[in-house]
Amino acid sequence: MHIPESNLPRIVVVGGGFAGLQFCKRVNKNKFQIVLLDRHNYHTFQPLLYQVATAGLEPDSIAYPIRKIFEDQRENFFFRIGEAKNIDAEQQILETTSGKIAYDYLVIATGSKTNYFGNKVIEENAMPMKTIPQSLNLRSLFLQNFEQTLLTDSVNEREKLMNFVIVGGGPTGTELVGAIAELKNHVLPNDYPDLDFTKMNIHLVEAGERLLAGMSETSGKRALKYLQNMGVKVWLKTAVDSYDGEVIKTNTSKTIPTRFLIWAAGVQGSPIKGIPEEQIQRGNRIAVDENNKVIYSDNIFALGDVAMMVTDDYPRGHPMVAQPAIQQGRLLAKNIERLVDGKPLKAFKYSDKGSMATIGRNRAVAELQGMKFTGLTAWFIWMFVHLMALVGFRNKAVTFVNWVFAYVNYDKGARLIIRAFDKKRNLHEEKVPVGTGE
Ligand SMILES: Cc1cc2nc3c(=O)[nH]c(=O)nc-3n(C[C@H](O)[C@H](O)[C@H](O)COP(=O)(O)OP(=O)(O)OC[C@H]3O[C@@H](n4cnc5c(N)ncnc54)[C@H](O)[C@@H]3O)c2cc1C
Repeated sequence: MHIPESNLPRIVVVGGGFAGLQFCKRVNKNKFQIVLLDRHNYHTFQPLLYQVATAGLEPDSIAYPIRKIFEDQRENFFFRIGEAKNIDAEQQILETTSGKIAYDYLVIATGSKTNYFGNKVIEENAMPMKTIPQSLNLRSLFLQNFEQTLLTDSVNEREKLMNFVIVGGGPTGTELVGAIAELKNHVLPNDYPDLDFTKMNIHLVEAGERLLAGMSETSGKRALKYLQNMGVKVWLKTAVDSYDGEVIKTNTSKTIPTRFLIWAAGVQGSPIKGIPEEQIQRGNRIAVDENNKVIYSDNIFALGDVAMMVTDDYPRGHPMVAQPAIQQGRLLAKNIERLVDGKPLKAFKYSDKGSMATIGRNRAVAELQGMKFTGLTAWFIWMFVHLMALVGFRNKAVTFVNWVFAYVNYDKGARLIIRAFDKKRNLHEEKVPVGTGE
């Protein structure tokens, strides 16, 4: 991989997500040469992926070109597209699909991937929602199901096509079913006047005793009530055992015939090969110390979802959400300078800003700084926070206009089957767009 020579120490950063971007923005580029590598040329705002999957937003609204983010920081900053494959820690070389690159310091900010908990059959047949291409596949499959229903005479097939199942009652699953219920209640009957929408069923399956386990019981109960009022069938204490692409079997007597299952039941770290196995901890995350330094190494760091930092406050590691990733990226940018200057490093302390989930129009739950909000207030807070967190003025403006339009018109604009979805294609392995191997 060609990178201009420099006398400065080189930091290679893998991953332009929340953590990697914050690190690259804040690190002192007069003291280091920075090379950022990502398999995509854009940053993805994952909290709004579900809106792309449910035709609420165009993908461009939640993605932002990495090169544009750094257009004012050309000095000693280089972006390269490609996928990191292996770390040779002894030689200090990262092997990627776009060639090898030597580093003085390596920052791993590769985030997480869907966790099927070892169930291969579910992995083969369920749909994940971690990337924009996956969300577009979901959008296509969702809309194709209605088109297919109109083309088939089989009652059994119609039932499968009109059953929509989401597994996992965390914020992602809850927000997804809320958005699908909105479509059912306000949008789809206008598009498909010859379909009987009383036959469309939306199921949310959750193994635990309640929804939104990461939030208070009050918020979980409120979310359940909102969803039930919107017509969603919520199955608590029900774990999906298998799904062959046609029927879901659970650990209870409940079975659901369906051609649409989104797996939002778990994530696991996405480390790069070459990290010793004993450093890969619970949830496939890399063990780091309080400075995000990978335990066995002097010059490799891990940030965000992929990092497992055990502290007294977080004995099971920090939550796999955006704020720890952002805060760790910011701190490491300062700490790495302290490291080369021979100064003591500052320990990471997570400042929890709260959590929230929206459940359709005018309904949300939010817990911020010890205060709980529900209903319209929480919904406005949710919209404001997400709008402000989007990267780039254009994305903020386009998303805002889309939301206002949807609110006023009870409509969603992006109901397009752009890429016909073929279930036989393997969707779980994403292809790297470019990279010659040299
Ligand atoms: C559907 C969904 C909804 C969510 N909702 C919320 C929410 O409402 N609030 C919240 O706080 N958090 C939410 N999260 C979690 C949040 O998005 C993550 O915690 C956060 O993105 C973690 O940041 P990160 O920088 O560690 O990783 P990421 O943001 O995932 O970034 C990782 C980057 O690394 C790249 N990459 C990965 N592997 C490689 C490789 N081998 N080579 C090259 N590049 C690679 C990826 O392309 C990506 O750009 C949600 C996540 C999902 C999937």
